[in-house]
Amino acid sequence: MKFIFVTGGVVSSLGKGLTAAALGTLLENRGLKVALQKFDPYLNVDPGTMSPYQHGEVYVLDDGAETDLDLGHYERFTSTKLTRMNNLTSGQVYQTVLNNEREGKYLGKTVQVIPHVTDEIKRRIDLLAETSKADVVITEIGGTTGDIEGLPFLEAIREFALESGIGNTCFIHVTYVPFIKAAGELKTKPTQQSVAKLREIGITPNIIACRCEKPLDKELRQKISMFCNVPLEAVIEAKDVDHSIYEMPLMLQRERMDDLVCRLLHLTTPAPNMAHWQEIIRKLIAPAHRVRVGVVGKYIGLQDAYKSVYEALIHGGIGNDCGVEIVQVDAEEIEKHGAPAKLGGLGGILVPGGFGERGIEGKILAAKYARENKIPYLGLCLGMQIATIEFARNVLKLDKAHSTEFDESSPHPVIALLDAQKKVTKKGGTMRLGAMPCQLALGTKAAELYGSFVIQERHRHRYEFNNHYREKFEKAGFVFSGTSPDNKLVEVIELKGHPFYVASQFHPEFLSKPHQPHPLFKGFIAAAHQTIHHKPLYSI
Ligand code: GLN
Repeated sequence: MKFIFVTGGVVSSLGKGLTAAALGTLLENRGLKVALQKFDPYLNVDPGTMSPYQHGEVYVLDDGAETDLDLGHYERFTSTKLTRMNNLTSGQVYQTVLNNEREGKYLGKTVQVIPHVTDEIKRRIDLLAETSKADVVITEIGGTTGDIEGLPFLEAIREFALESGIGNTCFIHVTYVPFIKAAGELKTKPTQQSVAKLREIGITPNIIACRCEKPLDKELRQKISMFCNVPLEAVIEAKDVDHSIYEMPLMLQRERMDDLVCRLLHLTTPAPNMAHWQEIIRKLIAPAHRVRVGVVGKYIGLQDAYKSVYEALIHGGIGNDCGVEIVQVDAEEIEKHGAPAKLGGLGGILVPGGFGERGIEGKILAAKYARENKIPYLGLCLGMQIATIEFARNVLKLDKAHSTEFDESSPHPVIALLDAQKKVTKKGGTMRLGAMPCQLALGTKAAELYGSFVIQERHRHRYEFNNHYREKFEKAGFVFSGTSPDNKLVEVIELKGHPFYVASQFHPEFLSKPHQPHPLFKGFIAAAHQTIHHKPLYSI
């Protein structure tokens, strides 16, 4: 078994996760079984309790693990199914070590960062290697080289590499080569210093992936090669992609990164066949159609808060050979200026998941606008709850209908706490989480889109549709197209007589991939494209 470690230098947000994922794509297309794993040096046990401002999206896995959004890249770029084994935080490491200590497992020894913390980190690499039976395990270390909190992880991978023997491990360091406008030059010094920092710890990178805005010329490559102690061919240009993150595998392939990795790890495989990936890029760069859809949220300024939603919309576009322009609409702006001003001319409206009261009324206005004007609507988790509240208030005339999350004394709590949630007091990992089966009803839009009656989708919520109101809703044309197999929980709703008004209690965005667009997103984009097409031009 072979191991690749991806570290980052100079600054954060360099796209280490994307680099790891894109390398995974290439290795998988060489016929290798790949497993990907992320180590996060923060002390939270998982990111489930962190604000999107701190962390961006929380990515949910089948087994209910709440993980880092890089795991979303891993699943979108490769065919690996991830579990909670694939994301390790310092919080988890210390929790395990301290539990072991309390149980007397260290036999009276002084418990220390080295070896106890580092051993636990190494154990987790081995564990993934064993359970995944992969040919190659790629481990990404979060944070930036030089951070105090990242040191135990770097020490652990140094030891791991030493113990694995020659030719079995490879270190890739992703760094930044800034372009200094005043000098009109790319600068290599920060890269040199961050590599020096790594070598101080005892890690010599085999490959340096240089994130840069401009191409790296030969001279610069030679300089990085010389001062960072890597062969010239191991200096990889990772220039900002022109159109889409999905160009990354092709870009790394052009730089022969996969070839080099295979040589370093003594892996003999054929060159990857990337024809299908090239077709995806073709559809992204020159799509046959184009459509604009709005995402109505409260974390609109944050690039990462709705990552998987944005990606799934793009995939829905690929599935329709349709370029998707995403218009990010702040729900509070709708409250101030009204829905027509903010949503007019859009082909579709999507309300994603969310927590907390801010912007809720704006989202309700968006759902109303989509329903009344027959604009395609896709609601995800909170987006389904919003559609329910809107319908209750404006169609069923249930005054002050609400979710008890936002108004505990609502006379019509059409969305209420799940029974299982009523006694929950702890915050971390206690929602209804992970993949659950859902039964779709015959003759519904959902069943038509999925082409199946039983599906599995990932969840992350505490509240649900209040069954007390089911009949009333049904009579007025609100269709319960998906429920839990015991029919106790509403999972998908849609509206009769609307071209596309579908909302799910689960999060379909977590299961979409560029080469396998999720059916709900594919259907939503198809409907959005049709709506725009059937409207007179002046209203676009
Ligand atoms: N806040 C809602 C709930 O807990 C919706 C959650 C979500 O959108 N992920 O049920």
